[in-house]
Amino acid sequence: MFSWLKHSLKKTFGKTPPDPDPPVDRGPVIIPRSEHGISRSNISENALKVLYRLQKAGHEAYLVGGSVRDLLLGREPKDFDVSTDASPEQVRQLFRNCRLIGRRFRLAHVTFGREIIEVATFRAAEGGARVHTENGMILRDNVYGTVEEDAWRRDFTVNALYYDIRDFSVLDYTGGMADLRAGRLRIIGDAETRYREDPVRMLRAIRFAAKLGFRLDEASEAAIRQLGPLLAEVAPARLFDEILKLFLGGYAVQTFEVLRHYGLFGSLFPATERCLQHEEHHFPLTLLVRALENTDLRLAEGKPVTPAFLFAALLWEPVRARTAELRAQGLAPIEALQRAGDEVVARQTERVACPKRFTLQSREIWTFQERLTRRSGRRPSLLMEQPRFRAAYDFLLLRAHSGEDVGELAQWWTRYQEQDEGGRHAMSASQKGKEGHPRKRRRPRRRTRPAPEQS
Ligand code: ATP
Ligand code: MG
Repeated sequence: MFSWLKHSLKKTFGKTPPDPDPPVDRGPVIIPRSEHGISRSNISENALKVLYRLQKAGHEAYLVGGSVRDLLLGREPKDFDVSTDASPEQVRQLFRNCRLIGRRFRLAHVTFGREIIEVATFRAAEGGARVHTENGMILRDNVYGTVEEDAWRRDFTVNALYYDIRDFSVLDYTGGMADLRAGRLRIIGDAETRYREDPVRMLRAIRFAAKLGFRLDEASEAAIRQLGPLLAEVAPARLFDEILKLFLGGYAVQTFEVLRHYGLFGSLFPATERCLQHEEHHFPLTLLVRALENTDLRLAEGKPVTPAFLFAALLWEPVRARTAELRAQGLAPIEALQRAGDEVVARQTERVACPKRFTLQSREIWTFQERLTRRSGRRPSLLMEQPRFRAAYDFLLLRAHSGEDVGELAQWWTRYQEQDEGGRHAMSASQKGKEGHPRKRRRPRRRTRPAPEQS
């Protein structure tokens, strides 16, 4: 049977998903407007503008990726991606508000105020100009092809569905529609090869599985268990971007659980994973999960979240453990915390390049934990005026609620903030004498001058 005929008869997709390996002459399954739920009214106006302008200029242009996937699932897309046969330079000529980005993967960003429509040129099937490392990782992928070739270069079948603005149909080359209906996440092609080409695909698999509540199919799953260590080869700056997507996407708790389930959390946060494996108490894990729950909740309520607090929580247990060691060696509390923070951050940023502006704040949150124990005299009112006080107090609450032995301290600070000035004064006055003075300032020793030489 001709493949196009076979496929048009198979419009009752969902029964036998096509094998997601590149075909010889397979056309797409075409899902007409009457058989799917995507309506233009749910598509960003700016994305529609981009699609129409590309088309008017004689190019092919489709909506693709997460936006088509999410619209088909009845979810609100995070952003809108467009795929076209126009080269990045041609896209730039069509839009004044356009910037070309990326080396490994060149893309056009068309900006409309705060919205960015990402426009990618169709990637070609395997070709000579693609640059690989010894381990099969793709360093550069700027060889252009057809929409069909582009579909087979995408990561998961559910991310390779194309919405055609000409007749409002959806094109499915890889069996994505059946997988979408089955709640299945399936990598396109040979799982091991595709993860080796780009190990970040493993993190993407986890992110989509957690966010969509999808199951990974057997092959996509088995390869992850073996290839997790390849994440160590990914550029630390790219891993930082991925971590933000993993933990600040609104599904941090599920994502964390799935990452640990597949053994990938340890590739991102090795020191934290070691602590979690040796934990004698529950609170390190409890603290992490609570921090991630808070993050998800804040995002759901439209409140701001910062990577600094996230990193402070993710790295707290290694910092705490190292602080205890340094104190046993005789370092003063704050000094030990600072040193531990420096060491843990330095090792972590070799893996995940968290920018300094965030790690500085994380370190402040940690050292503040010690400063918050000093409550006599004018100290509390001075601490409260510091810009990092709020985050540090929230962090103290998090520790207390996770079972660390700081419950009394956290309650004290909660009460302190509720008091008027007189009440605060009384509270800090009553602390006097309770807290052993951290360290007496040593009086500078009087130098004994050498006696002037007698002549
Ligand atoms: P999100 O909801 O997070 O935006 P998304 O699937 O749209 O999810 P993007 O990072 O916006 O993710 O990428 C858009 C599309 O580009 C993906 O759906 C996928 O088809 C393709 N893509 C992105 N990253 C890769 C990759 N590493 N390898 C192959 N294809 C990729
Ligand atoms: Mg997207």
